[in-house]
Amino acid sequence: MLDPFELSRFKEAILAQAKRLGPDDKFHFACHPKLGCFNSCCADVNVYLMPYDVLRLKRRLGIDSRSFLEQHAIADALDTRGLPIVQLRMTEDEKKRCPFVTEAGCSVYEDRPWACRMYPIGGASPPAGKAGAETFYFVVERFESCAGFDEDREWSVAEWKENQGVAEYEAKSEAFKAISLHPFFVEQRRTLPLDKSRMLLMACYDLDTFRKFVFETSFLRRFEISPEIVERLRTDDEALLIFAYRWLRFGLFGEPTLTLDAQEVEQKIDGMGKMFTR
Ligand code: SF4
Ligand code: SF4
Repeated sequence: MLDPFELSRFKEAILAQAKRLGPDDKFHFACHPKLGCFNSCCADVNVYLMPYDVLRLKRRLGIDSRSFLEQHAIADALDTRGLPIVQLRMTEDEKKRCPFVTEAGCSVYEDRPWACRMYPIGGASPPAGKAGAETFYFVVERFESCAGFDEDREWSVAEWKENQGVAEYEAKSEAFKAISLHPFFVEQRRTLPLDKSRMLLMACYDLDTFRKFVFETSFLRRFEISPEIVERLRTDDEALLIFAYRWLRFGLFGEPTLTLDAQEVEQKIDGMGKMFTR
């Protein structure tokens, strides 16, 4: 497994060498159980997870996000900017298989992660707000035994994404990408302090713990949030994830994505006043 520093250099090297594809560019590929390599790629592989992947998988498995992270993920690394790196935990025997692979294929197929859907296509996005730069795609390095590249079936990138149900994952991950590629990291080249990295990990990836944080602390007294939204946050994971992104932009970058409660503002102003009269 690559450490975070190696990982970012690895990604840069791939992006520098890869032939760039647009949505209409074509490639050959097919994956099906008749191939001798069937299932071989679901072992000893780095499957990086986005928050929406975790949401879908924990819901699929009927477990809470903390249990999912403990049982099925590795979530203790940070990249060079302090962003959490979360990936699927392979089994610890010599086969190092994905916990969800079975003889019949992927047991969580309808909820498989974005990275599994996209293979053999990778995507690279420009930083938020960067003019003129567009997302581009590339064919990832061929998995050693992957016979799918030798099949005749031709796809455009857009057809492949449609066939694999990628659009929903991308739409639900836009706000996360905007945080990961925020000018704070990309232009200012700043790194999150450890406490804020943990805050990001909890809010994005451990939604059930974030929900407890929202409902079992003074959180709701500190921000102006409409009662309708509060009710949705109690039970709707997807609404909670969107809300988590708003809170993170407020907490990490100081953006006005949430409004402090009037009393909280008064206390802050009062506190600042005291600082200046000391
Ligand atoms: S989640 Fe499914 S497709 Fe992805 S590695 Fe595991 S078994 Fe394979
Ligand atoms: S190795 Fe390639 S063709 Fe074979 S199962 Fe995996 S993705 Fe499909």
